[in-house]
Amino acid sequence: MKRMIRIGIIGGMSYESTLHYYKQINQEVYKRTHGLAFPDLAIRSVNFQEYRKLMRKGDWKRIGELLGGEAWELAYGFYCDYIAIATNTMHKVAGDIVRTVEGTPDFPFRRFDGFYPELVHIGDCIAEKCNEINAKKVLLLGTEFTMTEDFMKARLKTHEIEAMDTSSYPKEIYKIDRIIFEELCHGIVTPKSKKFMMNFVRQFLSDSEFKPDAIVLGCTELNMILEPGDVDISLIDSTKAHIDKLVNLYLENSEV
Ligand code: GLU
Repeated sequence: MKRMIRIGIIGGMSYESTLHYYKQINQEVYKRTHGLAFPDLAIRSVNFQEYRKLMRKGDWKRIGELLGGEAWELAYGFYCDYIAIATNTMHKVAGDIVRTVEGTPDFPFRRFDGFYPELVHIGDCIAEKCNEINAKKVLLLGTEFTMTEDFMKARLKTHEIEAMDTSSYPKEIYKIDRIIFEELCHGIVTPKSKKFMMNFVRQFLSDSEFKPDAIVLGCTELNMILEPGDVDISLIDSTKAHIDKLVNLYLENSEV
């Protein structure tokens, strides 16, 4: 049934990437509908510094509670139908958020309008893009959390996509994490860091016995520093994948 659809975005992590979400969702819907059918959006831009402190302390329980609360507010306060967390790393607590938004014994309710809000997981959107180009084995780039922990790799695995082992590159992973948090999240792109990223991809490709089918930019700021053409292999941008899915859901279900 077509109806009014509202997309809710939890952003600010960092605001640099949230800007892409706002601009590109509007541009894409406009391109496909013309007129003044700009999508109905609610953006909750949080203070990333607070979350960064909790990340440093390893207090993911609190992060899950806070982001669950934000998502709940968007879903039940603002009546958003689709909720997107505009960062890969924070999908580490996606389970907590889903339990809060989609309903558990504690939150058994469907909304007064009869609809269940849905969390649009960035990992599923990445997997959809991988499948479009038949990429089954990928090099996943992102923060240290995303590259070394299991939450994103496990999500990709549910779609039969393998994130290749990068455990023999601890120094490089640390450096990529620094580039994300100390440069890209501040809107800074340096030629030195760009060269480092390109060299790391090249090194990984020449070191590994089995080549990846694609590189996944599994951090919503990485498209600032790596673009198609920089490396000799397909790039899948998690930000674009997420945005494309949100636009499709919006256009498929909205009466506009
Ligand atoms: N936006 C980044 C990501 O996609 C990193 C910032 C964060 O930790 O949320 O992972």
